[in-house]
Amino acid sequence: MKQVRLPHGESVPALGLGTWNLGDDRRRRADEIAALRTGLDLGLTLIDTAEMYGDGRSEELVGEAIADRRNEVFLVSKVYPHNATRAGVAQACARSLKRLGTDRIDLYLLHWRGSVPLDETVRGFEDLQRDGHIRHWGVSNFDVDDLDELSALPGGSAYATDQVLYNLSRRGVEWDLLPWLHKRRVPVMAYSPVEQGRLLRNPQLGRFAAGRGLTAAQVALAWLLQHDALIAIPKAASVAHMRENTVAAELSLAPAELEELDRMFPPPQGASPLEML
Ligand code: NAP
Repeated sequence: MKQVRLPHGESVPALGLGTWNLGDDRRRRADEIAALRTGLDLGLTLIDTAEMYGDGRSEELVGEAIADRRNEVFLVSKVYPHNATRAGVAQACARSLKRLGTDRIDLYLLHWRGSVPLDETVRGFEDLQRDGHIRHWGVSNFDVDDLDELSALPGGSAYATDQVLYNLSRRGVEWDLLPWLHKRRVPVMAYSPVEQGRLLRNPQLGRFAAGRGLTAAQVALAWLLQHDALIAIPKAASVAHMRENTVAAELSLAPAELEELDRMFPPPQGASPLEML
């Protein structure tokens, strides 16, 4: 599995596991846990969750899936913006740790920017780091101006990633955000890498993939993974989808294929506000 180096030197797999909506339906629980554990077996050892997902049900499911293999996993969770005061992050993190059944989160993200001043959130993250409850912190849905502001704060440039919406059909970040992060050697984490399944219904992409004996999901993920400092976190609720997606990590697309994909999904021609889902 291709690895991506975080700013503090640790490496994580370029393909990880998304978990939004996992844990919501008890009848699907066994399949979802099997899918996550298959992902771990295949080397997708980064798991992304959040206190928001299913009001904690996703974290509980992840906790169950990794209970006997916590040390294999690089665990990412997120705090709601309204919980991101200095005291609030400590309380939210304690609840997340309980649901996850662990004593530490490897990377704790501010889910999106809210009204709490950023320096309060950074102090809260630093407290949690000092006490060993989180190992690293980062942000999500931050545009360049937010990162500029964050970086100017004391300790504010210690974020390990910015998790943002990025896939073939959402390329706005290529204009300014990706170069900004690249310059500072901060990897981007691409969420909704198959556009929550919508990309997979694109007939042109389907034909492109079929012509190469691949699926649209594999092409969409391989296209993201050609970036050096990018972690993609598709969500797959079945073992079959998980196995299919993992193949993408071994694929490489030729320059002519990338040009063809650029014609189908043109790169941005100017700056645009960061999109969110
Ligand atoms: P996604 O990963 O782009 O798409 C998930 C959907 O694609 C599911 O319906 C899944 O179906 C389907 N799928 C996956 N692999 C497939 C395959 N090989 N063939 C057919 N269908 C396939 O969307 P996402 O869940 O929004 O994003 C991924 C993760 O990013 C989330 O789970 C979450 O962890 C994170 N996220 C973060 C934010 C944020 O604000 N920070 C926002 C959105 C998402 P099955 O479930 O049936 O496998």
